[in-house]
Parts: sequence; structure tokens; C-alpha cells
Amino acid sequence: MMGPLKIIALVILVISFFTFVTFFGRLPALRNTPIGTLHRILWLHIPGSIRSLDQRLTQGRLSAWTAKIAHTLWNDRHPLVMIFFILLLSVSEFLFLPPAWPLLNTSQTAIAITLVLLPYIFLYASAASDPGYITQENHSHQMTLYPYDFTIFYPGQSCHTCRQLKPARSKHCSICKHCIAKMDHHCIFINNCVGYRNQHYFLLLLFTTASLTTYATYLGFSLLSGQIRKEIPAWKIWGPGFSWSEYGNIWAWVLQEYTRIGAVTLLCGLTTPLIWGLLGYHLYLIWAGTTTNESMKWGDWAYEMADGYAFKRELSSDRHKDETIEPVWTRWPVESEQIVLRTDDGMPPTGPDAIGEGTWERVWKLKDVENLYDLGFWDNLTDVFRPRYGFRRREHSSSGSGSRSRPSSGDVTSVAPP
Ligand SMILES: [Zn+2]
Ligand SMILES: [Zn+2]
Repeated sequence: MMGPLKIIALVILVISFFTFVTFFGRLPALRNTPIGTLHRILWLHIPGSIRSLDQRLTQGRLSAWTAKIAHTLWNDRHPLVMIFFILLLSVSEFLFLPPAWPLLNTSQTAIAITLVLLPYIFLYASAASDPGYITQENHSHQMTLYPYDFTIFYPGQSCHTCRQLKPARSKHCSICKHCIAKMDHHCIFINNCVGYRNQHYFLLLLFTTASLTTYATYLGFSLLSGQIRKEIPAWKIWGPGFSWSEYGNIWAWVLQEYTRIGAVTLLCGLTTPLIWGLLGYHLYLIWAGTTTNESMKWGDWAYEMADGYAFKRELSSDRHKDETIEPVWTRWPVESEQIVLRTDDGMPPTGPDAIGEGTWERVWKLKDVENLYDLGFWDNLTDVFRPRYGFRRREHSSSGSGSRSRPSSGDVTSVAPP
């Protein structure tokens, strides 16, 4: 009876699930869960078997051809996925709103108009804004944003493409062809990087899209429920007093009567948890004082540490800084007090990189090293939403020796944009 609708719902559910696995499966936090395993099967084992089969059948011609297309699709900036996203939004709104309009009261209309407009505004803001391009002109300013933490970012490393020093927390994006300040990830939905200067727009895009689909789900179900009540006055949305098959049949009937509202409501209901999940993940990253890019580096560290290849020792703040590769002053309120290094042989580090003082201590767990970029949730959030904000200098509370001097630059309240 509800054949086509069931199929549509199933297809959407499957697509949503695979999208979820693709986006979340590579995250270190989920590496040892079924999601991580499924991600490896989908993106490593299956492509690997197809490649070896292709090697036998066509001497690898098919793989080379697919790789070339995939390379073009993934490595150049083009708005394909963004157009798909805009179409999905617009077509759903076009299907839902005209039949729903006469059924809405004034406040529902006002909320609907607002919620429909907001994702477009923040999509435009995220896509059209500068995510934090590091250029020759603004390079010295970019260097003052964050200090090196000597754990996941070390001074003196250059970008081979841009031929300039990599500021702490930056990463080169091969799609945008720029180094990006506080690079989070390149997002194909906004056809832009998410970085220092636009991550607040990206968060607002996630929040407004999640709010839109949540409200559409709620509105869709209550409108349909209202229509059922016209026929069956005793009807309630959770269906008390009806058997499962009656309940199912009543929904199937109203979904067929109001196909356009019904289809969009189901689509929204299925995608809503996914969008809240993505927003939740980004809020978690902010809470942890990290980014998608950095969480990968921390994930790698966790493995090195567990294997016993990681060492740390103290880094005095009055050490001599090489000003040519490390900024003397940053707007960040704290500086690194430790250096963490990995070695290949499991012996304490030696050589020119092994700066610092005291004995090397083996580090087994991530919690034994400090994350310099975590100031606590509210300050981390401030750093996201007010990218020109300068923090007050802080003294480390954990610091044992009181005799340390820190380069004091007074109270910094605002750092001029480049
Ligand atoms: Zn670069
Ligand atoms: Zn990019």
C-alpha cells in the first residue's frame, strides 16, 4: 500500500547511513567501533578488491580512469555538492510550503519564513567568506594568532606549495590552493575550507539547518495529524487506542493524501539526527579545544604513545626563541611549557630538534600532555565567534617553579585584523 513511500524512505535512510559512516568513520574517536570498521571496509577493503580485480581484467585501466575522475572531482574547487545541497533545500521547500501554507497560522508562518531563509544566509556567508587564507601580505599577522605547542605544531616547518612558514594550527588545503589559518577541514557542502575566519558561519549553518529540519519534521507531523483528526476525531499523534496495523494504515493513508508534505516530513525526520550529530561533533571539538585536522593528529599521537614512542620534557618560557621561525608574541594567553617528540627506536630523543631541559619522560596517554589550544569551553567558543579577539595573559596554574618569567605584553584586548 505504501510501496513507493517505503522505498523512498529506505533509500534516504541508506544514503544517510553511508554518509554518516563516510564522514564519521575516519575519526579517531570511532576508530575501534563498528562505524570505524565499516568505514575501513567501505573505503579501503572494497576499493582494494575492486582494484586488484580490475588489475587482472583490464590491467588497471578502469581504476586509472576512475581515479582520474575522482581526482578532478575531489581536488578542484567546484560547487557540485553545494548545488546539490541548495537543490535539496529548495526542492523540499517548494514541495512542502505550497500545500502546507493554507494550513499554517500566523506564528507558524513567521517561524517557517525565518527558518527557511537562515540556512541560505549562512550558507552564503560560509561559502563566500575568506576562511583564513595565509598570504605573503598577512603572514606576519597570521603568525601571531597562536603559539606553537611543540606537540602537534612545531616552529620552522614550511609549506612546500606556498613557500612560507606554516603558522601554528594552519594547514595547506590542496583544493583551495592556500594555507588556511586554524584549518578545520575542507567542506564540499560549502565548497570552501572551514577555518579561522569562517568557522562561526559554518556552525551557524549547521545550527540553522538542523533547526529548519527539526521544525519541518514537527510541523509536517502535526499538520498531517490535524488532517487525520478531521476524519477521525479521537486521533492523537502517538496513536493511543489504535492497534499497530490501524496506526500504520492511518499514516499510510494520510501520507498518500498529502504526498508532498509527507515525503518532505520523512526526509527531514531522517536527516535531522545527522545534522544535529554533526553540530554536536563540532561543539565537542570546541569543548576539547581542537579542530577536525588536529583531532587526527591527536589520534595519531595516541597510537605512538601507546606503543611507547612518545617522550616529553619541560620547555622553559624564557628560552631563547628563534625569531625568524617562531613569533615572539602571540595574542594567545598561554605558551607551551612542554615539548613532545616521537622517536623511531623507543629511546629518548636526541639531535637538534630535542630542545628543552631536564630528563625525558615517556608518555603513555594523551591525558598526560597538555593541549595548549584548550582554554576551556567558553574561551574556545569566543575564539571561534570573535576571531579578532585577543585574550588576557594567563599564568599556568600547573606550573611548579614560580621563578619563571614570561614575556608580558600587558592586557591585550584586541588584535588588529590584517
Ligand atoms: Zn600552503
Ligand atoms: Zn579548502
